[in-house]
Amino acid sequence: QQRQDRDGSAKEPTFSFEFFVPKTSQGVQNLYDRMDRMYQTHPQFIDITWNAGGRLSQLSTDLVATSQSVLGLETCMHLTCTNMPVELIDEALQKAYDSGCQNILALRGDPPVNTNKWTACEGGFSYARDLVRYIRKKYGDHFDIGVAAYPEGHPEETDGRSLIGFLKEKIDAGADFIITQMFYDGDLFIDWCRDVRAAGISVPIIPGIMPITSYASFMRRVNWCQIHVPEEFLTRLEPIKENDQLVREHGTELMAKMCQKLIDSGYVTHLHMYTMNLEKASLMILDKLGLLPKEAEEVNLPNVPLPWRKSL
Ligand code: FAD
Repeated sequence: QQRQDRDGSAKEPTFSFEFFVPKTSQGVQNLYDRMDRMYQTHPQFIDITWNAGGRLSQLSTDLVATSQSVLGLETCMHLTCTNMPVELIDEALQKAYDSGCQNILALRGDPPVNTNKWTACEGGFSYARDLVRYIRKKYGDHFDIGVAAYPEGHPEETDGRSLIGFLKEKIDAGADFIITQMFYDGDLFIDWCRDVRAAGISVPIIPGIMPITSYASFMRRVNWCQIHVPEEFLTRLEPIKENDQLVREHGTELMAKMCQKLIDSGYVTHLHMYTMNLEKASLMILDKLGLLPKEAEEVNLPNVPLPWRKSL
C-alpha cells in the first residue's frame, strides 16, 4: 500500500504500537513477551504510557529502559505533569536519558483517579507546552518531543480553533511531532489536518488508531471521547454486536479502509496503533493494509527514518 507524499514521491507507510503499564508483575512479563513477538513485525517504534505518579510511574520508566536497552526497540516514553513536581519530572527524564531513550511524548495528563478537575501540583507545570519548553531547555536536542492533539475536541475545550492555537504553542515550544486522539471519521480527520497545516504547523501528524475488538468497548470509547461515528460503522456493527469475532472482522475491514483513506490523503505517513496491550486486532488491520512483513523475511530494523527525523 504505497502512499503518495504531498511532494509526489511514493513511500511505504510505517507503524508503531502503544502499550500501557500493567498492574501486576505477571502482566509485565506477559507484556515483555508480547513486545518481543510484535517486534517481529518491524514497528518503527513503541511507546509506553504514563500514570499519574506513584508505583506505576516507576514501572513506566523501568519498561522504557528494558524495551529500549534490552529488547532494542526504539521507545517513546509518555510523561505527564499530573502530580509531578519538577524534581520527579527530572528523575523520569534522567532515567529515560540513561537508558538511551530519545523520544518523549510530553503531556499535561488527565486528572488523577477520583477527581474530575485538573490542577497543577505545587512546583509542577500547568500545560504540556510548559513541559515541552522545559525538556528542550534542559536537554537541548537530545530528545525528540511529541505532543497530543484532538481532531474532534478535548473534554475541556471543544472549540477547534482554540485547540489548534494551543497545539501551535506546543510546537513553537519545541515539539517535533503530533500523535492524535483516536477517531473513526477519516473525513473529519483529513479536514482537521488541512486546518492544522493552514495554521502553519508543519511537523508530522501521526493518527492514533484504535482497533475495534467488541461492540461494547467500541461504543464505550466513542462515548467517552465524544467522537463521531460514521453511519457505515453503525450499520455494519450494530446487527452483529453480540458476536465479538464478527465485530472484530468487520471492524478490521472498516479500520483498514479508514487508514487507507488517511494514507491516500497524503497527510499521513505513519499509523500509531493503540494496542490496549493486545496484539491480534492491531495486526489484523496492518495485515489487511499489506504492511506486515512476509513470514520468511528476516527481522531487520526498518531502514526508514522515524517520521519526525530527517535521517537515521
Ligand atoms: P495540554 O495541551 O496542556 O491541554 C490541556 C487542556 O488545556 C486542553 O483542554 C487545552 O485546550 C487547554 N490548554 C492548552 N494550552 C492552553 C493555554 N495556553 N491556555 C489555556 N488553555 C490551554 N494521559 C495520561 O495520563 N497518560 C498518558 O500516557 C497519556 N497518553 C496520551 C497519548 C495521546 C496520543 C493522547 C491524545 C492523550 C494521552 N493522554 C494521556 C491523555 C492526556 O493527558 C489528556 O487528554 C489531557 O487532558 C490533556 O493533555 P495534553 O497534553 O493534550 O494537554
